[in-house]
Amino acid sequence: MDRLDGKVAVITGAASGMGAATARLFVSEGARVLVTDMDDEKGQNIAEELGDDGDFFHVDVSREEDVASAIVHATSTWGRLDVMFNNAGFGGARGPIESISEDDFDLTVDVLLKGVFFGMKHAAPVMKEQGSGSIISTASVAGLQAGESPHLYTATKAAVIHLTKSVALELGQEGVRVNAICPGVVATPLAHGPLDEERREKFRDRFGRHQPIGRVGEPEDIAQAALFLASDDSTFITGTAMVVDGGANSGRAWHRQSELMTGQGPIKLYRPEGR
Ligand code: NAD
Repeated sequence: MDRLDGKVAVITGAASGMGAATARLFVSEGARVLVTDMDDEKGQNIAEELGDDGDFFHVDVSREEDVASAIVHATSTWGRLDVMFNNAGFGGARGPIESISEDDFDLTVDVLLKGVFFGMKHAAPVMKEQGSGSIISTASVAGLQAGESPHLYTATKAAVIHLTKSVALELGQEGVRVNAICPGVVATPLAHGPLDEERREKFRDRFGRHQPIGRVGEPEDIAQAALFLASDDSTFITGTAMVVDGGANSGRAWHRQSELMTGQGPIKLYRPEGR
């Protein structure tokens, strides 16, 4: 219960889903957490839930001054910054390539890529001066494999993974680690929209069946990965993109592939005559 004892974290997009689950877990492990989000009401509720170890700060990650001010707020309140979790996100522009407007392109890139860049940019000097810190960004399996997400979502998440590696190379000798998490399908409003409990369960059922591990991800699964990367359990890990997807990105299981090919059960072992 004390893997983050004395540490201070700033989490973007912490009013909901993975960010909120991570804020709760970090505090239960001894951290103080600045919950940041565009959604003031939900963000303040999460911060209140965290008691004296939580605080809320309004941040639109696409605005550099918001991100910079949040980091100043955390360091002036609690004296340090150990973890910067760049997690805020949305689905971004959708549709065929010719239908995407320049404005929608800009908004998508501003939130999903520039927002991460601002978090890294403003956390780095504080952490370098301390000689320690962990910067974590939420990418996606969509950043590793095209096809199941909109064009700009998949492109910006790939860019987050590459930016993570590039910045990790720069900051490693300064004691600052930089990693990304690549979630698969996780039951949050971003994935299933604003659903009631019954429809959320249907979503879990439908997507869970397609996961090798037999269920969808929950926000707490991602929070556990963030805890590992934030804590001193991972001091030799930097520049990585940790996949947390129930095995979905590993490929299609051999028995499913053969079912698809034959329309029947698994293909039997081929035995050459005489063997
Ligand atoms: P969520 O909708 O539950 O939470 C996202 C939070 O980000 C919300 O509170 C929202 O208000 C906030 N936000 C959106 N735009 C913002 C902005 N410009 N500035 C500040 N806050 C903003 O979704 P989630 O699934 O918990 O998403 C967290 C991260 O995980 C995102 O980066 C998302 O792309 C990524 N992700 C999600 C899934 C999934 O299946 N849910 C899979 C892979 C990656």
